[in-house]
Amino acid sequence: MLDLRGSVIASSYIVAAVLFIFGLKQLSSPSTARSGNRLAAIGMAIALAATLLDRQIVSFWTIAIGTLIGAVMGVYFGRTVQMTAMPQMVALFNGMGGATAALVSVAEFLRLTRTGESMGAGEATSIVLGTAIGAVSFTGSIIAFGKLQEILPGKPLQFPLQRLVNGLILLAVIVLGVIVVSSTNGMFAFSLADQSSLSALATASGALWILFGAALLLGAMFVLPIGGGDMPVVISILNSLTGFVLHNQMLVVAGVLVGASGTLLTLLMSTAMNRSVANVLFGAFGATGNDLAASASAVGHTVRQTTPEDTAIALAYARSVVIVPGYGLAVAEAQHTVRELATDLESRGVNVKYAIHPVAGRMPGHMNVLLAEANVPYDQLLEMDQVNGQFPQTDVVLVVGANDVVNPAARDDPSSPIYGMPILDVDRARNIIVLKRSMGHGFAGIDNALFYHEKTRMLFGDARQSLTQVGQALKSA
Ligand code: NAP
Repeated sequence: MLDLRGSVIASSYIVAAVLFIFGLKQLSSPSTARSGNRLAAIGMAIALAATLLDRQIVSFWTIAIGTLIGAVMGVYFGRTVQMTAMPQMVALFNGMGGATAALVSVAEFLRLTRTGESMGAGEATSIVLGTAIGAVSFTGSIIAFGKLQEILPGKPLQFPLQRLVNGLILLAVIVLGVIVVSSTNGMFAFSLADQSSLSALATASGALWILFGAALLLGAMFVLPIGGGDMPVVISILNSLTGFVLHNQMLVVAGVLVGASGTLLTLLMSTAMNRSVANVLFGAFGATGNDLAASASAVGHTVRQTTPEDTAIALAYARSVVIVPGYGLAVAEAQHTVRELATDLESRGVNVKYAIHPVAGRMPGHMNVLLAEANVPYDQLLEMDQVNGQFPQTDVVLVVGANDVVNPAARDDPSSPIYGMPILDVDRARNIIVLKRSMGHGFAGIDNALFYHEKTRMLFGDARQSLTQVGQALKSA
């Protein structure tokens, strides 16, 4: 009976792991992402059900109540969260994962010491890593959440000797970890009556609690000096950390998948911004305003404004239009309006495509998700490499709330902070119309020569309102 149960659990875990892997694979393309999510969710349900068969489960009631509360919260937040608030929701969920890893590790330590069971170096190391990484991820994610939700200032918070202080806290965590492992090591024949066992236990638990506190502090101190816009990268790093710390077989598989994909995502995001992971973590990007540089470079440049009516005419008479969405599209929630405009143009015989930059918006896949929500057909979405060669033959590029990802300085100006970041070459198109509210900067805080280009016309206003007005003008054009 027990063997049967054991093999049911083991084979369910294998099935769940396979579903996770195929689910992840499908997440890599917008057209299969929904079914990928579904596969992974089925895998998770199987893994949970199999774990409940485990003999060590003490109370099914607690689990049932926990599952119910979690499910209600998950459904509520999944349905109500705004697209622009997605990064902070991920931060919060990740923080919960970190807290769980830390609490499970501390609870395991308390259980082993209370029952007097043996604790080898491997087990003690896993407890130390779980507590430290879980606690860092927890407070780090909570600070990331605070910055993204604008409860905390988004600018990097810096103070003198910050790196030294952080380095010392990290050192303390490592030393305390070594103390925990070395004082529990050899407690194979642990006895509550044995004086040396008891004093080793007292040292280990004292050190573990201080380590827990120091790691909580380290998480907060580590994220505070990082700018709000870099939080998606930070969350991805913290997420990959939590992946590597969990115990049970299924959690190890899921953890390795989370860890590996989080690491890859971190690297991809950094590459797309042409910044090293170290620069994201320690560069305090956005700490100093580039306003001076911006106003200096703007001197002597002319901004050419346009109207919704003229925009409608330019679009109606174009053969090919490429729409470039950016963060402003998300802020204005203009995805449906832009799709309606595109449909109208197509019905007039205009060839419409969307150019998707990998780091447009504030989280990976931000634009894909928004446009998918508005039912934009996937075959109209072109990636940077596909579309860049087509710009010279494009009659009109409509830039909707994008800024940094179309800034030619990233390609042409070696002194620019974003020099080297791959961009969409919209300045090579025949006409450019930019929809934004003002001459305000984007995430990198720098001016954009595209807006002063002789081929560029600026249509100022909230992107959704402007698109609605262009749509109306198009109908009467
Ligand atoms: P961006 O450079 O941040 O610029 C967004 C522009 O949207 C702003 O200049 C703003 O100008 C405009 N805007 C804001 N609200 C608007 C509204 N309601 N209507 C119309 N326009 C509006 O955006 P991006 O070109 O998408 O570039 C993304 C940036 O974020 C890159 O620098 C990237 O490196 C960074 N980043 C991305 C990720 C990611 O994973 N995607 C992660 C971290 C950092 P106004 O204020 O004048 O309207």
